[in-house]
Amino acid sequence: MAEEAHSGVIDQVVQEALDKACLSGKDLSAVAVTIGPGLSLCLRVGVRKARKVSGLFGLPIVGIHHMEAHALVARLTERDLQFPFMVLLVSGGHNLILLARDLGQYLQLGTTIDDAIGEAYDKIAKWLGLDLSRSGGPALEELALEGDSKSVKFAIPMKQHKDCNFSYAGLKTQVRLAIQARNINAEIPLSSASHDDRKARADIAASFQRVAVLHLEERCERAIEWASKVEPSIKRFVVSGGVASNKYVRARLDEVAKKNGLQLVCPPPSLCTDNGVMIAWTGIEHLRKGRFDPPAPFDEPEDILYDVRPRWPLGEEHTEGRSEAR
Ligand code: ATP
Ligand code: FE
Repeated sequence: MAEEAHSGVIDQVVQEALDKACLSGKDLSAVAVTIGPGLSLCLRVGVRKARKVSGLFGLPIVGIHHMEAHALVARLTERDLQFPFMVLLVSGGHNLILLARDLGQYLQLGTTIDDAIGEAYDKIAKWLGLDLSRSGGPALEELALEGDSKSVKFAIPMKQHKDCNFSYAGLKTQVRLAIQARNINAEIPLSSASHDDRKARADIAASFQRVAVLHLEERCERAIEWASKVEPSIKRFVVSGGVASNKYVRARLDEVAKKNGLQLVCPPPSLCTDNGVMIAWTGIEHLRKGRFDPPAPFDEPEDILYDVRPRWPLGEEHTEGRSEAR
């Protein structure tokens, strides 16, 4: 179904992008395409289309890492953002804290051992009966504004682990139990909930958000402290990925950045959640460094084995850094 959803719209999406930019294929200088990580069937739809456009107009191809694009789009909106810098990527599938040393050179200081924070927002929004016509994150953020963030006691994850990794599965369970204990029924939409029921949901939303973000704050502080020792020239802290469009997340991480003498850089919300601009921009970055593949043959058959990387870690893991950060 996901593959069909992609292949059903890809031609139209590419055409629309060209039309909006008042360009045609022959005006392009290259094609950038996500090759991982993600569902291989869907990645292939993109790569097939990219190779078709490349073959048609003789354009070089740049294969992009989706998470590198989430990070590097900050260099499009903040043109003087130089390497090295710290990066926190918070999205639906990832929770990564990295030291970005150069283009393509990332040191992974922490990742999630189970779920990503965006996944937790989405799941909890569903359990709270929120309107999911957009994603759960923004709906939960909005409801949290009505709640008391200290009213429900949730434990901060991984307090006893003095590393830079993240975990959200346990917090999700704590929240699920709190929802059950208050007899909140997800079948009753928020718009039909009584005043007390709405207040109970808002208190849970606010309390979850506070603790979820406290966990981010703690891990980021630890990672920044370690990274600043090995790379004293770091001045910026980039936060990107869908969850970075959350105002509370931004405000709290701005405090962390300031406390550590760094400047927070968050792309505008529309460039934090998935978008094509970040892929195009990362393509430009690689193209400038001469990193690209030659154009696809004009008459390439469609059934060839494309180079997609469903599992593709961003940068190298730095276990030594993690333990030194204790
Ligand atoms: P990944 O980038 O890890 O492959 P993805 O591409 O699905 O995952 P993104 O599009 O970057 O993720 O971000 C989507 C996620 O961001 C969703 O989980 C969504 O709930 C969350 N999100 C978006 N806006 C907000 C917000 N205002 N507050 C909290 N979470 C948000
Ligand atoms: Fe994404």
